[in-house]
Amino acid sequence: MTLVAEVIVDVAAYPVDRPFDYLVPDDMTTLIECGSRVKVPFGPRNVLGFVVLLKESTDIPLEKIKPVSQLLDIEPVLTNEMLELAKWLKHETICYEIDALQVMLPSALRAKYEKMVTLQADIELLPQSLKEIFGNSSKVNYKEFEKNNLLHELKHALNEKLVVIENVVKQKGNVKEVRKVQICNDLNKLLEIQNHISNRAKKQKQLVEWMQSHVGETIEPNTIYEEANTSSQVLQAVISLGAATFIHEEVYRDPFTKKVEKKDFLDLTDEQSTALEKIVLSMKQKQSETFLLHGITGSGKTEVYLQAISQCLNDGKEAIVLVPEISLTPQMTERFRSRFGELVAVMHSGLSVGEKYDEWRKVHEGKVKVVVGARSAVFAPFENVGIIILDEEHESTYKQEDSPRYHARDVAIWRSKFHHCPVILGSATPSLESFARAKKNVYTLLTLRERALKQSLPTVQVVDMREELQKGNRSMFSRSLMESIEVRLQKKEQIVLFLNRRGYSSFVLCRDCGTVLQCENCDISLTYHRSSEKCKCHYCGYEISVPKSCPQCESDHIRFFGTGTQKVEEELSKLFPEARVLRMDVDTTKVKGAHEQILQAFGDGQADILLGTQMIAKGLDYPNITLVGVLSADTSLHLPDFRSAEKTFQLLTQVSGRAGRHEKAGEVVIQTYTPEHYAIELSKSQEYGPFYEREMLMRHQAGYPPYYYLALIQVSHEDVMMAAEYAGKTVEWLRSKLSFNVSIIGPTASGISRLQNRYRYQCLIKYKIEPDLIPTLMQLIKLYRSDWIKKGIILSVDLDPTMI
Ligand code: ADP
Ligand code: ZN
Ligand code: ZN
Repeated sequence: MTLVAEVIVDVAAYPVDRPFDYLVPDDMTTLIECGSRVKVPFGPRNVLGFVVLLKESTDIPLEKIKPVSQLLDIEPVLTNEMLELAKWLKHETICYEIDALQVMLPSALRAKYEKMVTLQADIELLPQSLKEIFGNSSKVNYKEFEKNNLLHELKHALNEKLVVIENVVKQKGNVKEVRKVQICNDLNKLLEIQNHISNRAKKQKQLVEWMQSHVGETIEPNTIYEEANTSSQVLQAVISLGAATFIHEEVYRDPFTKKVEKKDFLDLTDEQSTALEKIVLSMKQKQSETFLLHGITGSGKTEVYLQAISQCLNDGKEAIVLVPEISLTPQMTERFRSRFGELVAVMHSGLSVGEKYDEWRKVHEGKVKVVVGARSAVFAPFENVGIIILDEEHESTYKQEDSPRYHARDVAIWRSKFHHCPVILGSATPSLESFARAKKNVYTLLTLRERALKQSLPTVQVVDMREELQKGNRSMFSRSLMESIEVRLQKKEQIVLFLNRRGYSSFVLCRDCGTVLQCENCDISLTYHRSSEKCKCHYCGYEISVPKSCPQCESDHIRFFGTGTQKVEEELSKLFPEARVLRMDVDTTKVKGAHEQILQAFGDGQADILLGTQMIAKGLDYPNITLVGVLSADTSLHLPDFRSAEKTFQLLTQVSGRAGRHEKAGEVVIQTYTPEHYAIELSKSQEYGPFYEREMLMRHQAGYPPYYYLALIQVSHEDVMMAAEYAGKTVEWLRSKLSFNVSIIGPTASGISRLQNRYRYQCLIKYKIEPDLIPTLMQLIKLYRSDWIKKGIILSVDLDPTMI
């Protein structure tokens, strides 16, 4: 009997997106399964692929079909659910199926990494053939079984649980992938290398000299670039001379830095109980119901999640909890670990490749029952999901910005249908889409109107900064905020100051000719960084030193503008020299664990003021915070984004919710230049209802979601004429295919009209119901993949874009 595998191959930008047939060699037939990772010949290369179907016949003549060359894992890495989900994702987000499959797996299982597998067994229990391989050691590398043709016996032993897998992942010797540099531990050798470098390669000589004071040390490349004032090219060159080697980052670490005390469940308030009962009932009835848990900040949504999960575990099922990346604070994960202990895995971008793989494996092998993670944790490979929770469901980080452009909320709902379990969307400020669905009873609305400890919401004061200026106050602190800070400092209470930096940067400007320093590759102004005295592009990494004079007019009146956190910190120290300030922004949290440390220090009372960007808006729950100041409420209000009012309202509500969460009453001061704007005006009462009504009116008038759906098509090319031409072609083509009910806007230059040296145009499709839309976009993609791509065009389709 022949066995044929349909394989989705990992080949970038191949024009057709379909599985290819491969013959399963005899020795693999009992091992290979749907969801297995394989290597298959594709053209001249051997590529990674996933088996999506096994069948006994094929239309292709057998002599033409090539065999699978290698089976990469003993157990398949993808479940049948994942294979189905990938097909749905491919259709829903218009992406390659391979992208949909890869996004579900930790990067350690992608082609770039080689997996080493060790197996552990109680040797006494093994059949004779395997005993011989294990010999005297309890651990053996998987490759040994392959060599000795014993994979079938091994598979059997695995099924019988006589052998367990103890995987280790190792990166291949690919220099770009590695993280650290191990400097040669022989000083004489370094001296010798230095002597051999010709005088023309001065930079290399200098670097080797620098290394002589770091003999044998292991250092991150970035640290070397900074401290030795050198570049990656120079480092590479010096490494090839043998002065240092790249080494791989350590894997297998415990991502939890500290042990957590076990905590009991709290007695729920009436509102919490009602919400929990409804969720539990739905769980018992095995319904795939979506709940919107709308609860004001501090109303105890998390406690409801915890107790619902507890019920879910009692029923023998598993739970997935998604939180936005920035609120994956230790405080948040601890709350889950303190209830469910070792049953919790955590997945987020701060983990190393190996740690991520370890956490994924705990899920895959059923060692944990709860996953707390960011967006991609929605793919946690549990096979018996009992509940899926999205905390802060309105956050835009739930949408992935590159292919596959999925929204975690949609994936969660898809999985809930597969597993017949509820989804809980929680927020104090739900997205308009979700609230509208709840109003139409598509989602079941659960409401928590009171704070769990019956504390009142903080009092909110809005300060008009234009008035401050008229009264001669040029400081970035209004008089009222200064007074409040003074009072809190005296009372030894804590203060959080929030700088809304969305879409905001401290740019460098010439006061004489008005030139703003721009990135060479992108249509973006450079951001000034005080700590390094450099101007950086936040999109492509381009950086230059601050010029002494204007590159246009040579004037030396070149200044940086804007109130970055560093500048606020400086002014704070002038105004309140006695106050201890902690700053939390991208600069102070670069190092792994820094985020954690800053919060810990603040929680321990080591500082009076925590100053930061939106990073601090989430999850902070300390009893001693009684004042929250928002320095510039309107910087996010004027972005060219139809959601800017919604985002501003959400942000203001979130930060305000940090004050007075416990016994002490809280106070909020919001500074703004546009106090009359409804997003700011309505954030005073922190009432969601009136904001929702007002914003829905605006969306209706302007024809935006949730009344209309959007699709964004972006076309880019290195040549501006080509980009414009093909953007035009796209619009023409769409107009010829789609009905008049659909409005097609564009082509227009994108918000950032040039990025990484590519010119970008876009067109926006607004529609209500258009059955032809997806098939039409699929056709467009086909046209692009088969022809336009060769001309250097990059075209992307984003359904329900978060930013336009
Ligand atoms: P949310 O997630 O809605 O902002 P949290 O779950 O963080 O609210 O709860 C706010 C505070 O109230 C936390 O300190 C939490 O421990 C406490 N809390 C929540 N529910 C209860 C309860 N039923 N009894 C006592 N304290 C509670
Ligand atoms: Zn100038
Ligand atoms: Zn750039």
